[in-house]
Amino acid sequence: MTHPVKRLRFAPSPNGWLHLGHAYSVLFGADIAAREGAEYLLRIEDIDLGRTRAEYIEGIFEDLAWLGLSWPKPVLQQSTRFDAYAAALKTLRDMELVYPCFATRKEITDTIQQSGIGLKHWPTDPDGAYLYPGLYKDISLQERNRLMWEGRSYAWRLDMEKARQLAEDMAGGPITFLEEGASATGLTGRLLIKPEYFGDVILARKDVPTSYHIAVVVDDAHQGITMVTRGQDLFPATYIHRLLQVLLGLPEPRYHHHGLIRDETGRRLSKSARDQALREYRTQGMTPEDIRRLVGLEHAIR
Ligand code: GLU
Repeated sequence: MTHPVKRLRFAPSPNGWLHLGHAYSVLFGADIAAREGAEYLLRIEDIDLGRTRAEYIEGIFEDLAWLGLSWPKPVLQQSTRFDAYAAALKTLRDMELVYPCFATRKEITDTIQQSGIGLKHWPTDPDGAYLYPGLYKDISLQERNRLMWEGRSYAWRLDMEKARQLAEDMAGGPITFLEEGASATGLTGRLLIKPEYFGDVILARKDVPTSYHIAVVVDDAHQGITMVTRGQDLFPATYIHRLLQVLLGLPEPRYHHHGLIRDETGRRLSKSARDQALREYRTQGMTPEDIRRLVGLEHAIR
């Protein structure tokens, strides 16, 4: 019997130098890939053209090579894939699951302030954004067209409840995912998604026809990723990713969210140590072995 290829990925965003947190994440993934006999891909997540810098991309290649890691070539850069993301957005538009939202940040906070609940008590999503209060959601088609013609900027928001209902109809039941990480949230096994934590999340903008959420699910499918390893900060985003995978007819990977890096003694590294650039450690004379020890992965398989 032939088994499907197992494939993992490390997917950094080149808007800064890699730091110790990245070193932990990439070595953690490499360890699981080695245990599973899986391929390990590098993907450059450079959709944020305003923050991406060529030197940071170069830096990623240099730092990872220094750590002793290598990758199948060519390495995918998301900036070459905007057409694929736009096609996914178009599918969601054709399904009438997204709507253009013209609200400015001020309009949103004003609405919340006038709601009687106030900013302090208004729920926020796991990224800290106020749950969208629904302005511009139910405006008429004429009004929508008028605002577009006026040249107003807008964001494409997912109608979360409609999307969830349709996804459940398509899947024949509640949407779940397989979480294999033990340390991250305390939750493992088959878990139910809770996309209501995000409300009507933004999936694209007028000028940028994608977002992290669209790009990541489209490319995980495109590259045949069978297991997603990443930090626990992205655990809640999996709720959105699973929903999009069902709606877009994409395969479901396994997930393994990892906890924060700890030093050899099991203590959490301080934030400043975690954020120190790998290249600084390198110029200070540290070796890749020292880095492995520092992040507590000296026993990881290579
Ligand atoms: N590009 C994301 C980051 O650097 C990671 C995306 C992912 O692993 O899903 O935080």
